[in-house]
Amino acid sequence: MGKLLFFAAAVFFLWKMFQGDANKRKQETKIERETLIAKGEMVKDPVCGSFVSLEDSVRARDGEKILHFCSYECRDKYLKQVEAANNPKG
Ligand SMILES: [Zn+2]
Repeated sequence: MGKLLFFAAAVFFLWKMFQGDANKRKQETKIERETLIAKGEMVKDPVCGSFVSLEDSVRARDGEKILHFCSYECRDKYLKQVEAANNPKG
């Protein structure tokens, strides 16, 4: 009986430790991401609003601006919107 209780306590302790570790890691990932955004190494996709790293982004030029998208799908969507705005009559 005492052994079982000890085992249960050990499992509980390990579980707690794992939970704390996971939370910490999540926070670190968040901080890391915010740092990358601040440094300009992560950019916001103007279509879906998700952040992508500069290296992995899909690029498109809009006049003087270089835009970054998470996928070709988002880029195409954006380009279609720009096209529609430039040619209102279609
Ligand atoms: Zn996107």
